[in-house]
Amino acid sequence: MLGIGLIRGISGITELELSQPCIKETNEVLIRVKEVGLDGTDYGILKKGEPDIASGQDSMVLGHEMTGVVQEIGPAVTTFKPGDLVTVTVRRGCGICHPCLENQSDMCMTGLYTERGIHKLDGFLSEFIVDKEQYIVKVPPQCADMAVLAEPLSIVEKGIQQIRLIQSRMPWNCSHPEHSFTSSQWGGCKIAMVIGAGPLGLMATALLRLAGATVIVTDILPEEHPKAKMAGYLEAQYI
Ligand SMILES: [Zn+2]
Ligand SMILES: [Zn+2]
Repeated sequence: MLGIGLIRGISGITELELSQPCIKETNEVLIRVKEVGLDGTDYGILKKGEPDIASGQDSMVLGHEMTGVVQEIGPAVTTFKPGDLVTVTVRRGCGICHPCLENQSDMCMTGLYTERGIHKLDGFLSEFIVDKEQYIVKVPPQCADMAVLAEPLSIVEKGIQQIRLIQSRMPWNCSHPEHSFTSSQWGGCKIAMVIGAGPLGLMATALLRLAGATVIVTDILPEEHPKAKMAGYLEAQYI
């Protein structure tokens, strides 16, 4: 099976000849990879020169944004069936700290987590992958064309979720119940500033606009740049 990744001691990306993974535990799922997105994190890993490969391993497959199709399921898997379109999460918790034990490894307090394609675990740039049912998310068919963006979108969703949690405690919000932080239109009567019109900034702009917020996007790009124009398409003000 072909993979693309990094070899310890060799700079740049390399084609890897890998053995095809198979289901070893009853809660595992075999997935045929359909799409993989590449982003600034991948570029950073390449630029750093010293990949974060697990001790005892000589290579690491890159790629942490993906969609794939379920090929085979272990006997204990109940959520998926062969043919389902899915995406797979990236971080695997440390198993020690309170957030990781509560299934919130994005808040890991020990730093002992691993991440597929980034930090000590093989990523998704290979023909097949295997993972546990709990780390797999089903993609609704109507989202199939965009689902490879689920991982970067999850970063934006988390940031906005934290804003909602923190700001819901503040006394200066408007008195409209439909704009409370538990409402889908929580952005009403609120002005948000997004700094940077990159992919994450523009996805944040889209989510904030969907919540009804007035959005100002700032960047050093000229107003005629496609990213600046995209802010305009999302009915945000670009400055
Ligand atoms: Zn942890
Ligand atoms: Zn209001």
